[in-house]
Amino acid sequence: MMADECQPGDSVLKEDAPCEHCGIFTLGGNIPIQGAWRDIAYTPVRDNIWSVSEGIYRSIFLKGRKGVVAFDTLTTPGTARAYAASVGRVFPRNPIHTIVYSHDHLDHTGYAEDMAPEAHIIAHELCDKVVRRRQSDGQLAATETFVDERKAFNIDGVDFELIYPGPTHGDGNIAAYFPQSKLLFMVDTVIPGVGYTFFPDWHLAPYVPVMKRLLSLDWDLFVPGHFWITDRQGFIDNLAYYDRMADIAQQAIFDDLDPNNFAEVQKYTEMNLRSEFGELFRFQEYCAMNLSRYMQHYLTGGWGIEGNWQPDTTPL
Ligand SMILES: [Zn+2]
Repeated sequence: MMADECQPGDSVLKEDAPCEHCGIFTLGGNIPIQGAWRDIAYTPVRDNIWSVSEGIYRSIFLKGRKGVVAFDTLTTPGTARAYAASVGRVFPRNPIHTIVYSHDHLDHTGYAEDMAPEAHIIAHELCDKVVRRRQSDGQLAATETFVDERKAFNIDGVDFELIYPGPTHGDGNIAAYFPQSKLLFMVDTVIPGVGYTFFPDWHLAPYVPVMKRLLSLDWDLFVPGHFWITDRQGFIDNLAYYDRMADIAQQAIFDDLDPNNFAEVQKYTEMNLRSEFGELFRFQEYCAMNLSRYMQHYLTGGWGIEGNWQPDTTPL
């Protein structure tokens, strides 16, 4: 069987015919979750901006004169196809001609080849450098990159600005700013509730000051890369949680808590943090993991260049 004869959902060994793009998986064989179809909800947000979500991940797309500008590819080949199908349902005469990558991570931008393989792809240069060196199966390199802190685009009548405020999460993670709609979109930074697990690839030292730079822009609606849309106050409140975690983690170290003893970290979280954060979404699931990671940050010094960046705090 030739690869191009495969249909989504076919069960074949990778060595025989790779039906699905397999990302960075190196074991042969079909990976069911890669091909699984996901139902996608699509919602008009403001002006020509639409949002899509399968319940956990979220992105946006915009209708131009001839086609669609879509941000990110969602999580897997199957989800990328479902995302494209959702866009096609809303705008059946407008193909996806442009994809904008938020950042390098495969769970957000790993499968352009399944969503719109011919699309023009825009990414920050830092993001594209990772994409090119990783060579993940299904993640296409950018066809246009930029290095500036801010760059305005007009594509097929769609106006937006891409902003790289500094290191936050992943590499080359950008915000998309729609000044006429007073809307900001940014992925894997502000997410409703407590932080995600152990803050994978978050650059904790510069994170909050860099994110606060975005408050110098005029917007009142914030679309995150996960869960529900929030407003300016939701954005501010979410960042305040990170500031508090930084203080609490240092206090926990002073209190002789061992960040590697997770049962003790959970007990400490329950006793000391529930009263302040217990009502936040996913407190029960992740707050102790958040605390453990912040403690590790203080004990190890932060990781890599981006994790130790001295942030530029000037308004954008
Ligand atoms: Zn990410």
